[in-house]
Amino acid sequence: MLARWMALPLAGILLLLWRPAEAATWSGQYVRQLPDTAFASVETAPDGTKVRHLPHHDADRKLDLPHLCSALGRLHQVKWVDPANAEAAQRHLQDHLAALGRNPCQPGPRSPR
Ligand SMILES: [Zn+2]
Repeated sequence: MLARWMALPLAGILLLLWRPAEAATWSGQYVRQLPDTAFASVETAPDGTKVRHLPHHDADRKLDLPHLCSALGRLHQVKWVDPANAEAAQRHLQDHLAALGRNPCQPGPRSPR
């Protein structure tokens, strides 16, 4: 157990070391290879093409926090085939945040820039 006198400085050090997750770059090829389940929404265009939006799970289906935050920030930029899908996609992303019990997308005590 930590001595009380150590807890506060230790918390301060951890705060200094902690940075909001920065988005690792996913190449276009990497994103194309992701399964549909990696995306917040998968639509079908009138010509039958599949249109996938807002990838936020990696190839191992693990939630990727930087891409989750990015997806939430880009929701309004998506060109939806059916705008009704925007709400479901937002709900999907918000459910991840709720499951985390915290919002990793909020700027931390120390901004990366
Ligand atoms: Zn998801």
